[in-house]
Amino acid sequence: MLAVGKELLIGRTLNSNALWVGRRLARMGSMIKEITTVDDELDEIGAAVLAIVRRSPDFLVVVGGLGPTPDDMTLKGIARALRLRLERNAEALRLIRAHYIERGMDEAALTPPRVKMAILPAGSKPLQNDIGTAPGVRLVSGRTVVFCLPGVPAEMRSIFRKSVEPEVRAKVGKVFRRCFTMRIEGVPESALAPSLAEEMRTHPGAYIKSHPKGTMEGRSRIVLDIVVAGPDKVRVDEEGEVIASKMRRAVVVLKGTVVAVRSSD
Ligand code: ATP
Ligand code: MG
Repeated sequence: MLAVGKELLIGRTLNSNALWVGRRLARMGSMIKEITTVDDELDEIGAAVLAIVRRSPDFLVVVGGLGPTPDDMTLKGIARALRLRLERNAEALRLIRAHYIERGMDEAALTPPRVKMAILPAGSKPLQNDIGTAPGVRLVSGRTVVFCLPGVPAEMRSIFRKSVEPEVRAKVGKVFRRCFTMRIEGVPESALAPSLAEEMRTHPGAYIKSHPKGTMEGRSRIVLDIVVAGPDKVRVDEEGEVIASKMRRAVVVLKGTVVAVRSSD
């Protein structure tokens, strides 16, 4: 994912879109490998997009900077980086026009800043925005499908659900997940490290991650996440249970306590 916007860099806005997209993709069984944030500058956007598409991920989700104002230059940056012409997209213009007409406005509403939102890199497909004006954009670069979504969270989520999710799901296929969240007390993370390493080695596909939560009354506190995902539900459940019970045993051997386990799928 590439988030575009100075407000995200200067501590003005929390990148909640990244949190949402990451969680949503993980639930579908797709692993997000990188989240980058760049300034609203053509060079920054272009360099980031090039670096990402060179690695040929299945998908790149770009968020922010699709609006009518001059600082919204995501598509220009992408076009420059991928050497695509920018052109007025008839379908995008139709969507924008329909958006204003539905709200009781006429042709005069199509001011140049609004028409700007219909100027897309050649070969793009506009994605309908049911909430705001700027359409999303889908384009293909090499082996990568690039989705560009507006930064406004409600608009981003709406286009993501409608246009991004079905395509990612089709690519990933049906995936089952088994998750355990374990609260552990009385074992420092360093003492747990060898057991974690052993489980990671024997279950290379699983996500096993400890989060240190400081100490309370001299006792270390750790939250441990265990996630197993795969196409076979029985195997996923079984592997999840095996890892969880081995980690429980390791904690007991280290004279710690498993305070709570939350299990979900
Ligand atoms: P608009 O058409 O409203 O200009 P846009 O696609 O140009 O949409 P931006 O201008 O980048 O989007 O951002 C619009 C607003 O959305 C920002 O003011 C900010 O509040 C919010 N926003 C942008 N990016 C994010 C993000 N990654 N996480 C959360 N909020 C964001
Ligand atoms: Mg904007």
